[in-house]
Amino acid sequence: MTDLVLYDTAARKKRAFVPADASRVTMYVCGPTVYSTAHIGNFRPPITFDVLFRVLRHRFGADRVVYARNITDVDDKINAAAAKEGVDISVITDRFTKIYREDSAALNILPPDLEPAATAHMAEMIALMEKLVADGFAYAAEGHVLFDVTAYDQYGALSRRSLDDMIAGARVEVAPYKRNPSDFVLWKPSKAGEPVWDSPFGPGRPGWHLECSAMIEKTLGETIDIHGGGADLVFPHHENEIAQSACAHGGKALANYWLHNGFLSIESEKMSKSLGNIVKPNELLSAGIKGEVIRYAMLTGHYRAPLDWNQTLIERAQKSLDRLYGVLRRLKDVKAADVPPTEGVMKALNDDLNTPKALAALFEIAGRANKAETIEAQAEAKGQLLAAGALLGLFESDADAWFGLDDLSEAQKAEIDGLLVQRAEARKDKDFARADAIRDELTAKGVMAEDGPEGTTWRMKG
Ligand code: AMP
Ligand code: ZN
Repeated sequence: MTDLVLYDTAARKKRAFVPADASRVTMYVCGPTVYSTAHIGNFRPPITFDVLFRVLRHRFGADRVVYARNITDVDDKINAAAAKEGVDISVITDRFTKIYREDSAALNILPPDLEPAATAHMAEMIALMEKLVADGFAYAAEGHVLFDVTAYDQYGALSRRSLDDMIAGARVEVAPYKRNPSDFVLWKPSKAGEPVWDSPFGPGRPGWHLECSAMIEKTLGETIDIHGGGADLVFPHHENEIAQSACAHGGKALANYWLHNGFLSIESEKMSKSLGNIVKPNELLSAGIKGEVIRYAMLTGHYRAPLDWNQTLIERAQKSLDRLYGVLRRLKDVKAADVPPTEGVMKALNDDLNTPKALAALFEIAGRANKAETIEAQAEAKGQLLAAGALLGLFESDADAWFGLDDLSEAQKAEIDGLLVQRAEARKDKDFARADAIRDELTAKGVMAEDGPEGTTWRMKG
């Protein structure tokens, strides 16, 4: 089998992926902070790592991959949202966790195997923190517990920053109780009215970095195969996760491969809640843009490259999927052969998840499906399309449903398909009068036909 090669941020190069234990491949991805509705930029990591999850399951076996993506349900922004509405934080976190799951489902994102929540791992966080304090990597001061970055000589290795540079360019909060300006919080006192947990160092709440380290240890183990997240998490979040976990585990690596996705911009500006230029999945869905179109648009870019979200991107994704679904619709009475994904698709995905290349390979299969003259060849091409779709999270719709033909009877659909065939024949015979007459008849029926390289697709107006 050809290697699966992944770009490892820690090594700054592509490396062949070899899990520590092929019977239990582990992956952790930092999940959403559930204080508001996630925008489509926030869905770039879950879509990227969903493709990787599917590729890993295909390669190692579905029951040999354990994927955990946490829910950050303890955070200052959550506290602020709860205070604003005068409700318990669980009202906020339940609401936005539910929306996140619904949006994920609409984008064909498989639920991860494990979805640990920070609130359910307080004991693990406190135990980890106690160990770090006992071993001299962290210290308590004025109700806070801080990680002493000078106690870990590898600090900065992932992001390739030196402590001196960090101190020179420090934008970190300088507080009197910190030994070093870069020391980061493991625990801090809660403000009045905020949720609070007891700890040996005083009541308070955990820092974000500690949450992930504790949840990884609990759900997956001390060293995992793959850790993923957005590129903005390399520093400080992942650097700090490494410092905590490695120091608590005798210097063991937290993860053997570090993967980070690039950012989604909108009209060339970074999409972010603070800039206010965000687009939410639900806004697109209610405007009639299907989740699969959003997902396809996302996959047209390589995950590490920046991707600009705009109208043209969505329109192109829609057109591409229409062409592919058109092929599946023409083959709807052919039973798909049970075949593996083609070499073209696998080669692309095995090369650091090159989804744009994998999508291009779909059109090569579609072309073959159209030229196929035997049922066997059609069945094979259809099987290959579906096998690729299973890795990319595409073709989860019924082909008739894709074109909105659910309300038509089989006879009505057959009649329109027949008229389109007759129109194509008339055109071929240069009988333009007849072709125009058929076109008028179709228009009168409310049929909108679109011709493409793989043939004609159609849907009903309105
Ligand atoms: P946040 O809710 O801001 O903590 O973000 C959750 C995840 O979304 C993090 O992994 C971020 O890296 C990622 N993220 C946020 N904005 C974008 C964006 N515009 N493009 C890609 N990923 C993003
Ligand atoms: Zn994390």
